[in-house]
Amino acid sequence: MTKTLLSLSTNEFIAGIESVASKFDSATYPQENLPSDDWALLVGSGVLLPTLPREYGGRDSHVEMCRVVETLSEWHLPLGMFTTIVTGVALRPIALYATEEAKREVLPLFAGSDPMIAGFASTEPGCGSAMSGMTTTWEEVDGGYRIRGRKHWQAFSFSAHWWLVSAKNDDNGREYGYFIVKRSEGFRTAERYEPLGLKVIDYGLNDIDAVVPAYRRIPTGGGRNLRPMVEMLMASRAMMAAMGCGFLRRISREAHSYADGRQIGPAPLSAIRFARYRLAAIDSSYTICEALNHHLRTRLNMKADMLGSFPAVQAIKTVATERMLGAAHHYQQLVGGEGYRCGSPTNISAQAFLDARVFTIFDGTNDLLSQQLAEYCLARLEGRPLSAFLAEWPLTGPGVQAYRPDLRFLDRDLKQEHLVLAGRAIGYLFAMTEVMRWAAETGADPERVRTAIAFLKHDITGVASEFALADTGVVGDDEVASPPANTVISRSIPAGPAM
Ligand SMILES: Cc1cc2nc3c(=O)[nH]c(=O)nc-3n(C[C@H](O)[C@H](O)[C@H](O)COP(=O)(O)OP(=O)(O)OC[C@H]3O[C@@H](n4cnc5c(N)ncnc54)[C@H](O)[C@@H]3O)c2cc1C
Repeated sequence: MTKTLLSLSTNEFIAGIESVASKFDSATYPQENLPSDDWALLVGSGVLLPTLPREYGGRDSHVEMCRVVETLSEWHLPLGMFTTIVTGVALRPIALYATEEAKREVLPLFAGSDPMIAGFASTEPGCGSAMSGMTTTWEEVDGGYRIRGRKHWQAFSFSAHWWLVSAKNDDNGREYGYFIVKRSEGFRTAERYEPLGLKVIDYGLNDIDAVVPAYRRIPTGGGRNLRPMVEMLMASRAMMAAMGCGFLRRISREAHSYADGRQIGPAPLSAIRFARYRLAAIDSSYTICEALNHHLRTRLNMKADMLGSFPAVQAIKTVATERMLGAAHHYQQLVGGEGYRCGSPTNISAQAFLDARVFTIFDGTNDLLSQQLAEYCLARLEGRPLSAFLAEWPLTGPGVQAYRPDLRFLDRDLKQEHLVLAGRAIGYLFAMTEVMRWAAETGADPERVRTAIAFLKHDITGVASEFALADTGVVGDDEVASPPANTVISRSIPAGPAM
């Protein structure tokens, strides 16, 4: 079976995934943890193969990784996330950075049709955003490393066979390490968590006390800071564009169809002008995610170190997930009471909203990532005001020059709340530029482009208003001393010239 899959063209391969994915339509598929037999069906269709190098039985393709997740997300967003975690979060760092011995041991297990699962264990009850607060430790012992600690909220807490675990050692100054751990070596799930959405994935609280052979430590070339972890998370953050694109194509289609079919008095819902405004907001979100997905497919490469794409990936994650959540909210509102009903036969909006909700929270909360994006830019101003930097920076300059948004509100001392807001504005400027590029490179419908740009311009104006709101004193004065304005606070941001 796998041999046949390896010889298919990309389009044939994706058509095979599509036909299996259609069995998982979120309108009818049960809201429960994915049974192993169903994961076997998806693995058998090849969803893991693009991530695996050819020498370990894979198809080794960045574009196919994106297309698999986009296809799955259109049928069932949580399954798109499920596959992204196994592929982009857990297997990718192993394929890219692990020792040859570890690759030989682990990767072939994922190339067959067995329903193998791998997860990434980083977050702890005491820390998620600021991972330098982690308490899980590693120490050298005879024959390898011992890892001890407690992690929580891991996808596949109960079901993963393999884990990538982050830990620290403070014996000679702080050193972080990343280890490939087999569940049976000492990964125990102490408690089950009940998530609001993403029901196909199991979550929980995990205790780790494991000894792993030395070759299962990922060589990261220095563990003094968390940059290797930032790199390991970049593929899943970038894949939000593929998930958003598939998910929003469906939300847009279903919202229109619902609005055309639902009678409100003498006319359909879609005849109400404000309902049409909501539909336009949903459509513009789809357009934006399609453009971001174009960037992911054509300008990023998950098969190599992605740190050089740090600012683009931060922008993609924050903008795509905000769009997914916003569009799901508009769709649910349009549907009315039936949008608050689990398992409604007329729409998927209740579950779509619950599933989309967590995307702005996990994988780095959007507020933190926005702050880091602003800090990345501030560290590269070279004496220019931020607005002038953004007008010249290749990731935002084309959008700024074409649409001339007024960015003067950014040119001031930026306190922490301003950094988060400024990061959002930078994300929107990046999205504007990408919508333009996508349109130029694919010949997209100019009306779709015009609407998406109008919404993004509005979002930037919204950030400017929030600056003004913050100036009214709503945040209050600090009781604890905060860093001086324009200070770079996050230490895991890549240094060097603007990328
Ligand atoms: C469904 C789900 C799946 C997950 N999957 C995994 C997984 O597979 N593996 C794993 O290791 N972890 C996973 N996580 C954990 C997830 O990555 C963390 O929840 C997330 O990083 C936030 O950490 P925290 O929950 O500790 O929130 P905290 O760090 O306590 O942050 C709380 C809030 O503080 C605010 N905040 C933080 N920093 C800033 C800032 N700089 N500026 C402004 N506001 C800020 C934000 O509003 C943030 O949401 C998952 C979580 C969920 C809910």
